[in-house]
Amino acid sequence: MIEIRWDSKKCAMPQDCRVCLDTCPQGVFRIMPKEARKPGKATEDWVIGTLFLSLCTACGTCSDVCPKKAITVAVAS
Ligand code: SF4
Ligand code: SF4
Repeated sequence: MIEIRWDSKKCAMPQDCRVCLDTCPQGVFRIMPKEARKPGKATEDWVIGTLFLSLCTACGTCSDVCPKKAITVAVAS
């Protein structure tokens, strides 16, 4: 089983970086609003979600390229 851990304290502004989204060969990540969008209000807080975790091959590229070291890839048997 593969687990991707994302540290929101280290990655405070994911919308200004997006390196993991652009680099993952499997397209696992999506950037999502932290809370539901309110009508007429811009979303301020964003999170990195592993929407397609089932496609992850545990290659570790996301962890390697993250400039904030915010991603950890763990493989449990
Ligand atoms: S370990 Fe590889 S496949 Fe999995 S999320 Fe990271 S970059 Fe994508
Ligand atoms: S690469 Fe790292 S710092 Fe950049 S958006 Fe992804 S998790 Fe955040």
